Amino acid sequence: MEFREFAAYADRIEDEPADLETVLLVTELLSDGHGDLPIIARFAQGRIFPAWDSTTLDIGPNYLYEAIARAAGQNVTAADVESELAEVGEIGAVAASYEFGGQRGLAAFGAGGSDDALTVGEVFDELDTLAAISGDGSQGTKIDLLFGLLNRCEPIEARYLARLVLSEMRIGVGEGTVRDAIAEAFAVPVADVERALQVSNDYGLVARTAREGGTDGLADITLEIGRPVQAMLAQAGSVTDALEEWDEAAIEWKYDGARVQLHHDPDGIERDGGDTTTETTRVFSRNMEDVTAALPEVVEFAQERFDVPVILDGEVVAVNDDGDPRPFQQVLRRFRRKHDIEAAREDVTVRPSFFDCLHADGEDLLEDPLRRRHDRLANLLADGPQRSTLRISDDPEEIESIDAEALAAGHEGIMLKDPDSTYSPGRRGKNWLKRKPDVETLDLVVTGAEWGEGRRATFLGTFLLSARTDDGSYETLGKVATGITDETLAELTDLLEPHIRSEDGQSVDIEPAVVFEVGYEEIQSSPTYSSGYALRFPRFIGVREDIDVDDADSLERVERLAKQA
Ligand code: ATP
Repeated sequence: MEFREFAAYADRIEDEPADLETVLLVTELLSDGHGDLPIIARFAQGRIFPAWDSTTLDIGPNYLYEAIARAAGQNVTAADVESELAEVGEIGAVAASYEFGGQRGLAAFGAGGSDDALTVGEVFDELDTLAAISGDGSQGTKIDLLFGLLNRCEPIEARYLARLVLSEMRIGVGEGTVRDAIAEAFAVPVADVERALQVSNDYGLVARTAREGGTDGLADITLEIGRPVQAMLAQAGSVTDALEEWDEAAIEWKYDGARVQLHHDPDGIERDGGDTTTETTRVFSRNMEDVTAALPEVVEFAQERFDVPVILDGEVVAVNDDGDPRPFQQVLRRFRRKHDIEAAREDVTVRPSFFDCLHADGEDLLEDPLRRRHDRLANLLADGPQRSTLRISDDPEEIESIDAEALAAGHEGIMLKDPDSTYSPGRRGKNWLKRKPDVETLDLVVTGAEWGEGRRATFLGTFLLSARTDDGSYETLGKVATGITDETLAELTDLLEPHIRSEDGQSVDIEPAVVFEVGYEEIQSSPTYSSGYALRFPRFIGVREDIDVDDADSLERVERLAKQA
């Protein structure tokens, strides 16, 4: 397809306000795409390279201003282009406002057009060449190349070329539009296109396959080692949400680091052209950027551990010499780093913790339930910090204790997942819940407790919590028992024992003296406690040593919070 034809479509699409009409125009564009279809499917979205490909043009806007100025001739300078841009507000309009060499060439050839017409394929090839230019003098070479392209452009072509180069296409074509247009243009179900896109992240490949292979062809698009998949995302949610939604929940620690997708093939990863390279491992970020070079620990780990091809999902966490997690900010000092990696490694060590397995030894697992994917992960990786432990439970107390264990181990908390859910790339669905942090906490007075059992018989284990009322009395609203380590229980026992007023079997009555800060998921009306309210999933956060019982939260505040919910 000639680039001017593409530009004419882009112009019509840009002028079309209605979504449905836009899809029809993109459908027409794709149907006319012929050999350039894969490129057109990307260009329409303003992408030069597939989403999974981290190639960039690596040029600043100034390169383009310079190239436009040169192509415009007549003493136009890059500064003129820039001030024009400040006035007009959009680079496409600026580029289209000049008369480039191509126009002059066109006039010379007469109204019929020029032999020199740019094709979509040529534009792509030139930009691909430009992306590969690096090293000394690359700036000049890149500007020359852009100049060469612009020089062959009519104003309408220059408009869209300039936008493409600066990733500012903005003609109202999003991923959904292209997905629907592919389905429409090649008469295949949208769901099949969607699945193929999720697996490949390549609109060009999917468009061509839909045209050439139809539904069967799309179904044959599988994961490929070296081509990243969009990461499945999580929603905020509570233990209540999880247990209401599913019979039981899969619980994992939530690592506080940066998301990584590991691709490893001991026989070498194929490059786009189909050649196998000596490179066996690639690591991608959540946004599918290639971060392999920045994380040699992950590469070394993969090379040592895996003797079959795998694609794993996980998190890299900064760790100290004992292997304990360090704050999230430390990871950022390593992630995406391009220089002095060995020196940075001396300062901050990172460790991967994998929590999902998308491909193992020739088998794609996206459609498998989480339980099975995790089993595969467990087959590949022995127990250890590099693999998350998945526990299945329907017992809120057990879930709380996993949360406490995660926090005690220095992690962020827990993730709750539907154990039967498939892996949905790029989706922020209900199947993965990150436990909401407490929106509010309450400072409540301990008015009773129970002695523990067995190993914990000498500790007070369950604490009765009360809110203060206006007349100076205390009304109960819950018990906190989970989320407290043995060490803390011993300290709390020491703190509370002097305030015990009476004992009745396991139960003790405690005078109001100590205030706990408590997190919770919800406040419900309930006849169980004297206040008429009950906390759902209360958890111990700490002792408010800095405040007095008179400063603890009042029942009035509890009532207010309950009404707000
Ligand atoms: P987003 O949800 O947009 O990714 P975010 O980057 O701030 O937001 P969170 O929302 O806090 O991250 O939580 C989701 C992230 O938690 C995941 O993307 C992943 O990086 C991380 N994570 C840590 N441990 C796990 C785990 N066991 N399972 C899934 N994700 C985990």
